[in-house]
Amino acid sequence: MSRFWSPFVKDLVPYVPGEQPKLDNLIKLNTNENPYGPSPAVLEAIRGELDASLRLYPAPNADLLKETIAEYYGVTTAQVFVGNGSDEVLAHIFHALFQHSKPVLMPDISYSFYPVYCGLYGIEAKALPLAEDFSIRPEDYRGENGGIIFPNPNAPTGMLLPLAGIEQILQANPDSVVVVDEAYIDFGGETAIALVDRYPNLLVTQTLSKSRSLAGLRVGLAVGHSDLIEALERIKNSFNSYPLDRLAIVGAVAAFADQTYFQQTCQAVVTSREALTKGLEELDFVVLPSAANFVLARHVERDGEELAAELRAQKVVVRHFRSPRIEQFLRITIGTPEQNQALLHALGKLLTA
Ligand code: PMP
Repeated sequence: MSRFWSPFVKDLVPYVPGEQPKLDNLIKLNTNENPYGPSPAVLEAIRGELDASLRLYPAPNADLLKETIAEYYGVTTAQVFVGNGSDEVLAHIFHALFQHSKPVLMPDISYSFYPVYCGLYGIEAKALPLAEDFSIRPEDYRGENGGIIFPNPNAPTGMLLPLAGIEQILQANPDSVVVVDEAYIDFGGETAIALVDRYPNLLVTQTLSKSRSLAGLRVGLAVGHSDLIEALERIKNSFNSYPLDRLAIVGAVAAFADQTYFQQTCQAVVTSREALTKGLEELDFVVLPSAANFVLARHVERDGEELAAELRAQKVVVRHFRSPRIEQFLRITIGTPEQNQALLHALGKLLTA
């Protein structure tokens, strides 16, 4: 801390991302990256863009990508916003679309960046407990609020709220913007984008970091009523007029074009998730039902933090959260079948030691 810091900065509690260790033979299952890598067509498109055109600014509205996304989801380009990862898209949403004088509702176990954005914009975060089985209770999301946000599937539980539950929340809160953060939707959920034409207060965010294996490219998006998108554009244009760089735009467009690779790799992750869940259950883990590319699992006897440290010593990195209710759990990203096997092998060894 320095005397030059404003009091505002002194009070900020920033988000701490999952560790990015050097990969010296580590099996990295801690930050929900996709084990399969991006489509070869994406790499080719980015290589094709690597020329002197990099001296030019990118398209200020990333029109080509917006058109691609609009066509993919059957909406208009005026209903699409893009940004530097969904984290940035979410930051603009908290800034532009939540009423800062009222509490923003979110589940008590969810993406830990939400309270950080609340801190950044001086918003009260009101965390609503999940049910006993860790599901979101739509009936709890009511009363005076400045906005509502939840991941679907939820993170880090992996559990899916069916569209009927989302509609229940939308109908009970016609005067609030309801944000459904679909970072993990492609691994088993049904997108709420199908509802945006019926609910002007619904905004759906997605990312290319997970199902399209482009976490390093930083591309996120939001789809909703054009009025909501216009507010986001105003904030963005007052902050940085170029939402994405030239390489990110062509890479993201190519990612949406290669539907075959996308479907194959998503299916491979889902198949691996089912096998990993079974393997963990055989080792006496309780595994929450996941629709994401990770599982949240607790051993019936062993302490979660200790297990994470022991796995780390075996060169397998998983995520442990110290948050209440889940401190006994490990969040394990779905890897390749070989990586999952190595994890189960390491666990088997240390549980019988
Ligand atoms: N939402 C949720 C629920 C996430 O888990 C993540 C990834 N940490 C994000 C949003 C942000 O993803 P990105 O910024 O890579 O798009």
